[in-house]
Amino acid sequence: MVEAMHENHGIGLAAQQVGRALQLFVMDLRQSEAEFTWKLDGKPTPLDLIMPMIVVNPKVTVPKKRATHSAEEGCLSFPEIRGEVERPVAVVLHYQDEHGAPHVLECDGLLARCVQHELDHVQGVLFIDRMEAAVRATIDEEVKALAKRTKAESAPAPS
Ligand code: ZN
Repeated sequence: MVEAMHENHGIGLAAQQVGRALQLFVMDLRQSEAEFTWKLDGKPTPLDLIMPMIVVNPKVTVPKKRATHSAEEGCLSFPEIRGEVERPVAVVLHYQDEHGAPHVLECDGLLARCVQHELDHVQGVLFIDRMEAAVRATIDEEVKALAKRTKAESAPAPS
């Protein structure tokens, strides 16, 4: 999954996107130029030590009274399609690493957005479902075209 994420230049990928029904996603924001802050288990930890991050059994909480922010998102499951999504600016992610050890990641900015986007995948929610109706309407044609293409590709070959 980490390889697939890197190959597609993504910053996150959920198990559901590769056809697995697991409570698992991966993230890697080392190449991102966006500004964000984070603490792993209460300490500032270099990204190089914690990414690519494998997140198992994620639980996300939003700190009280944190503002929301609208920003453009894309998704490896929807190539070329982007749209504004409003989300809380900061979140706290409780998860287990690949060895089963529990961790707490407090983060904001793009990292918090990535966490929420991937958590949505794990819970069966897509970013296009999170868009306001007006935003969703602007990409409706593209989504329909993509659904058509995907259907055509996955149709069984005539035998
Ligand atoms: Zn996605």
